[in-house]
Amino acid sequence: MTGTRRPGLRLRIDPALRLLLHSRHRSGEPVVPHDGTSTVGHVIQSLGIPLTEVGEIRTDGTPVPAGHVPRPSPCADVVVDVLPVARPQPPPVRPLRFLLDVHLGGLARRLRLLGLDTAYHTERADEALLEQANAERRVLLTQDRGLLRRRALWAGAYVRGGGTEEQLADVLTRFAPPLEPWTRCPACNGALAPVDKAEIAHLLRPGTRRSYDVFLRCRDCARIYWRGAHHGSLRATVAAARELLDRPGPPPEAGGPGPVRQDRQSSE
Ligand SMILES: [Zn+2]
Repeated sequence: MTGTRRPGLRLRIDPALRLLLHSRHRSGEPVVPHDGTSTVGHVIQSLGIPLTEVGEIRTDGTPVPAGHVPRPSPCADVVVDVLPVARPQPPPVRPLRFLLDVHLGGLARRLRLLGLDTAYHTERADEALLEQANAERRVLLTQDRGLLRRRALWAGAYVRGGGTEEQLADVLTRFAPPLEPWTRCPACNGALAPVDKAEIAHLLRPGTRRSYDVFLRCRDCARIYWRGAHHGSLRATVAAARELLDRPGPPPEAGGPGPVRQDRQSSE
């Protein structure tokens, strides 16, 4: 067959992108017929890879844009090299804002803990996600390749990893966002602000009231946060994120109290 077929496009997919290929293309180098009218971007997406994940594209060694239409060759395949997006990639919007797909709740809380503006809903249809991402200029983070291939989506990224830690590392190394730990409510994404203990003392359990003096309150949902039993593990999350970004900053203590628990959910 190979000897008799007409030359087409031979795609050399970078190993970092192979998991995004439709399963039938995952072994070897896919060769697709070339009609002389499809763009390389269209061909790459037709194999399963969303263009949000693609960095440089080369045809026969020359960098080309995704909209490039390769000239068919009469005697040999056109070789298309497909490289992953650079890490870190330039942020599509500043400050960076995210919208997370419904299955990424754990990741949403971690990103908010690190101070990143992260919208998240436990239930939301694909259309509504696209609409919100576009309207609010948020980068849609998802593990749904189909959603990322939607032409209407302005910016998105595929999240790698099965567990929250892996996913967090993936997002941090991809966008290298500036971190502002303890500034956002992990529950609702609202801004946290210091609040006088006297103002909220009546909401605290006696043990909390005795043991803590510094509190933060969410401007949106009014949840109250203070350093408590889980502070150590949250601080470890922040420290690990900073280490990953190779960007040592002031220790979390310098930035104020940690949002660690809120009384209504405390089991103390
Ligand atoms: Zn809140």
